[in-house]
Amino acid sequence: MELSHLLPARENHPVSDESGPASVRDTRGDDYPVDDSPREECGVFGVWAPGEQVAKLTYFGLYALQHRGQEAAGIAVGDGAQVLVFKDLGLVSQVFDEQTLAAMKGHVAVGHTRYSTTGSTTWENAQPVFRTTAAGSGIAMGHNGNLVNTAELATRVREAGLLPTRTDRTVATTDSDLIAALLAHAAADSTIERAAMDLLPTLRGAFCLAFMDEHTLYAARDPQGVHPLCLGRLERGWVVASETAALDIVGASFVREIEPGELLAIDADGVRSSRFAGPDPKGCVFEYVYLARPDTAIAGRSVHATRVEIGRRLADEHPADGDLVIGVPESGTPAAIGFALASGIPYGQGLVKNAYVGRTFIQPSQTIRQLGIRLKLNPLREIIRGQRLVVVDDSIVRGNTQRALIRMLRESGAIEVHVRIASPPVRWPCFYGIDFASPAELIANGLGTTDGVFEGVRRSIGADSLGYISTQGMIAATEQPASRLCSACFDGHYPIPLPTEAAFGKNVLEGMLDSAADAVAREVGGDNVAALSRP
Ligand code: SF4
Repeated sequence: MELSHLLPARENHPVSDESGPASVRDTRGDDYPVDDSPREECGVFGVWAPGEQVAKLTYFGLYALQHRGQEAAGIAVGDGAQVLVFKDLGLVSQVFDEQTLAAMKGHVAVGHTRYSTTGSTTWENAQPVFRTTAAGSGIAMGHNGNLVNTAELATRVREAGLLPTRTDRTVATTDSDLIAALLAHAAADSTIERAAMDLLPTLRGAFCLAFMDEHTLYAARDPQGVHPLCLGRLERGWVVASETAALDIVGASFVREIEPGELLAIDADGVRSSRFAGPDPKGCVFEYVYLARPDTAIAGRSVHATRVEIGRRLADEHPADGDLVIGVPESGTPAAIGFALASGIPYGQGLVKNAYVGRTFIQPSQTIRQLGIRLKLNPLREIIRGQRLVVVDDSIVRGNTQRALIRMLRESGAIEVHVRIASPPVRWPCFYGIDFASPAELIANGLGTTDGVFEGVRRSIGADSLGYISTQGMIAATEQPASRLCSACFDGHYPIPLPTEAAFGKNVLEGMLDSAADAVAREVGGDNVAALSRP
């Protein structure tokens, strides 16, 4: 079947036009200065369950993963005869309604929530991406992570004659689509499973994939297992999801994590596991600090417990003289609780979060824009007034949020504001699927030594004192060996080599590379410089 028959009418959907009012660029930090947090990568979900309403299960699975991407959402279903894809820009609840989900019948489904780490935010780049094999079988795929050999894959796609024509606007331009194109091409002479086993070892970077044809659900995780992916059991089927919390929410029991370098195929014959590469675990430490839900567990370690432990260690490393500990909701809250427990300073709720306001598709007026941080956080003045506050946040990226927050807290009556941060200073870009600001925008970049960072950032954000957890303290809280974690955005040591073609990633990387190379040269002078330099 023609893809155009399966997709929603394009005219009905806002497509990125950088000057137009429907532009989803409006959801980015530059337009919403209240939100300069790092951008989550994506969430993937898949289900194989004959007799179940797989589209609805996927909808609720994506709902649980909404925090991993708010720019677009999509679901594909297979009924044994065809693959149907529905996707659009927007939150899961904006993209799908009862009528749409009811029309999506089948026994296998994959879903995706997207934040664009590669490629611009357009309807075409929403996922699942879709390709057909020479035999007419459909492949729908959701991808979480970011590849670093995109240019090499693009060359292979071009040489195989698989590039879209200029007029074919239904085809995406992401690394995810390159994977799907190469997989569909290879499956012409083989099964999808065998084609995947040949293709996956050639991918470099971070990838958690959930993909399907008309019959079978597949899931694969990169050899470093940078981002999480887990397997769950339903009474009448199986689920794969980016986070264990999504299993809980659809009533699936956790079975195990999909191993780094593993491909799963799930169909009427059960679950088949194949290894396409030896495991070399380098899990993203930022998943524990900020990205994942607190009710998720990664590598057997509760994210909430990790954050509480970070707060405890933060109190030991950087004690504060205060009357009340408050967290910046949501991801700063567990660390604030840990800080309070370890320090003996009472914990209280001083801020109320207006969830998702920074991810709206509504263009803010100038009046609204001037509200700044108040769009996102509202202070509880009766709690804050007259207090020496210890404010615990998950991270500082550009510092805009903290600067505005501290001003707001002082205006609300706080007499001192001591800031404690549950991660070390972010100094390096992430090439594996998390979009920080460019290195030039990172507030900790270029401030030299640790003491220089602390004092420079403290002055910039207007805090009475500032303390960051050490890298060692953060890693110890995860209960994972440092050798099994990636902490490159904090220390500049990239566990997956970065070929120069990383420059062909999302357009923002172009400007990042020169700046990052300069910063690396200044700070560590060595190994990573060549990797970050432009050709
Ligand atoms: S660089 Fe940072 S955000 Fe990126 S994968 Fe590594 S730890 Fe995670």
